[in-house]
Amino acid sequence: MEEILIAGKPVEAFLEEIRKFHGWVAPGVLLGGFMVDYALELVGKEVEADAIVETRFCLPDAVQLLTPCTFGNGWMKVLDWDKFALSLYDKKTREGFRVRLDVDKTTAFPDLYNWFMKLVEKKDLPLEVLNQTILEAGREALSADPVFITNYYAKIKKGKTGICPSCGEAYTLRQGALCISCQGEGYYQPNENPADPFLRRAVSY
Ligand SMILES: [Zn+2]
Repeated sequence: MEEILIAGKPVEAFLEEIRKFHGWVAPGVLLGGFMVDYALELVGKEVEADAIVETRFCLPDAVQLLTPCTFGNGWMKVLDWDKFALSLYDKKTREGFRVRLDVDKTTAFPDLYNWFMKLVEKKDLPLEVLNQTILEAGREALSADPVFITNYYAKIKKGKTGICPSCGEAYTLRQGALCISCQGEGYYQPNENPADPFLRRAVSY
């Protein structure tokens, strides 16, 4: 088999990067690697590209591994649409390419189709088999189209900072007179009685 390169990296190195970054070699990240590789090639190396990813699952990690775009630096926007597609585009012209896993094309790779359409239980499709199929499919299961970006390209503004009169913590005033947590949208409460003795010591001061 000829050597597969993903964004210029030998596939073995990419697999190892996925393992380290994502925790395991998830098929979605591997497939995402081919998608990013394709989009990068179409957009061109010389272009400073931003990314929009249409699912929170797996795909953002492929973008973060293979491009300078990260969630934290704001060059990658992540939409919670659960669609296996992404766009890379020139941030100056807003022209770019959208690459998607093409369900019609996946029918040529039954394991990939069944996984994508969630027609098969994990136990019935071993990871190695699925990942091997993805390696064989490569771009053959993908479609790409030129796009002009009309939304979600703007920089996310941070807004003014103030001190919440309820908790005394700094927060963005965009949230209103109180921080979002003090408005009842919080995700935690003080843990008065931690199960772990180490934590019990840590809260004692
Ligand atoms: Zn508060």
